[in-house]
Amino acid sequence: MPRALPQALLRDLAAVVGAPHVLTGDATAGYAVDWTGRFRGDPPAVVRPRDTAQVAGVLALCSGARVPVVPQGGNTGLVGGGAPLHGEVVLSLARLDWLGPPDLEAAQVTAGAGVTLSQVAAAAPALDLGVLIASRDSATVGGAVATNAGGLRVLRYGPMRAQLRGLEAVLADGTVVSHLSGLVKDNTGYDYPSLLAGSEGTLAVITRARLRLVPRARDLVTVLGGFSSPGEVHAAARAATAGVRGLLSAEFFTAAGLDLLVSRAGLTLPLPAPAPAYLLLEADGPGALDELAAVAGDHPAAVAQSAADRARLWAYRERQPEAAGFLGVPLKLDVSVPAAHWAELAAGVAGVVAGADPGATVITFGHVADGNVHVNIVPAAPPDGRHEDAVFSFVTSLDGSISAEHGIGALKARWLPLARSAAERELFARIRGALDPAGILNPHVLVPR
Ligand SMILES: Cc1cc2nc3c(=O)[nH]c(=O)nc-3n(C[C@H](O)[C@H](O)[C@H](O)COP(=O)(O)OP(=O)(O)OC[C@H]3O[C@@H](n4cnc5c(N)ncnc54)[C@H](O)[C@@H]3O)c2cc1C
Repeated sequence: MPRALPQALLRDLAAVVGAPHVLTGDATAGYAVDWTGRFRGDPPAVVRPRDTAQVAGVLALCSGARVPVVPQGGNTGLVGGGAPLHGEVVLSLARLDWLGPPDLEAAQVTAGAGVTLSQVAAAAPALDLGVLIASRDSATVGGAVATNAGGLRVLRYGPMRAQLRGLEAVLADGTVVSHLSGLVKDNTGYDYPSLLAGSEGTLAVITRARLRLVPRARDLVTVLGGFSSPGEVHAAARAATAGVRGLLSAEFFTAAGLDLLVSRAGLTLPLPAPAPAYLLLEADGPGALDELAAVAGDHPAAVAQSAADRARLWAYRERQPEAAGFLGVPLKLDVSVPAAHWAELAAGVAGVVAGADPGATVITFGHVADGNVHVNIVPAAPPDGRHEDAVFSFVTSLDGSISAEHGIGALKARWLPLARSAAERELFARIRGALDPAGILNPHVLVPR
């Protein structure tokens, strides 16, 4: 049962955002469960402010009443950070969908927290957003900043933090902090936009972001090659990062995910013969075709240059997150290791999971050039932490990270000590305490309050 909110608080919230935007009962259902279906809560209310002033009003009320709040954007997060698991109020930022005119001279744009990444990418014909993720049609600017989203072009443009040129946010007590000038050089104090990037809704609610835009890629070439092992995939990706000047993406997946997409989602095999592992490379500019062909060498490969053909090849990689869902509710772990250990991780992780749960299905895919492997597990044994124990211990033994890009959320909070020292966690807690003394913002996430 959700914790009921006092009627007076519900009335005050309705006075701030308008009665139709305070949802209770069945109307909250769409906000109560995450994209995977693994994280489900029961919020006493969903509050949908329209602008920064309304966000400030809502947070001041919740802080005053000591009511915990979970900020939510597009609800595509994969670590349970946006789900009201402990009866929190959901603060939906989806209606903060104001998108400013692109500043073509500075190649920047200011966007509300609820604007989707696809909408930012379409802001100007000759410009693009440097961050590209498969969930871009739903994932929002606020959520992408809060998770420091990575994705398919990190090797060229960096993650969401690297796109930030300014930020506006509301602290837990309703104070608005805003620094949106977009100056490239500006050493006037603490870089709190960078601090809030990756803070997973625990420090403040992001309301607007000033984002850099990058030149829109022209003359794109996509190559999908079949390889005999993750080690071969890694060697080819390294050759591409060294030798393909316009490289944008180096992505991998394996036969395990592909076979499911072929049998359950109607895709046909991309190459005449099946391969154990696949590498998708994309590059732009003069010479891209020849340089990519040189990397593919004698390996079987499909080449695409038209938008339709490229989309067809990209579907094999971008639909990998769906594959495990055909078998059950997956555990989605995303880990990274130094380049020297990537092949060992990619080749060995399924065996490590089998050691903990012999009946589990493991599907891996991800961003080779970033050292990042997404490990999707459909458990056969109870999901009681044994899978995370196995994968995270393996990853830390390879000097890696338990979260490459999705964050810690609720899913991984208990394993944070594997990745961060006691002194670091104490610092995190002090930062939280300073920005949110009442402890209302996402209390179960990252470093639980
Ligand atoms: C098919 C698929 C593919 C994906 N691919 C990638 C990928 O390649 N790379 C990657 O990094 N991620 C990926 N993701 C994960 C997800 O899309 C990203 O984490 C995204 O940035 C989340 O944005 P959102 O708006 O959906 O946030 P939500 O899911 O709503 O929230 C995510 C977190 O941010 C907090 N939050 C949301 N909005 C705000 C705000 N305005 N202020 C403060 N905190 C806020 C929430 O409390 C929560 O902790 C993928 C997800 C799916 C479903």
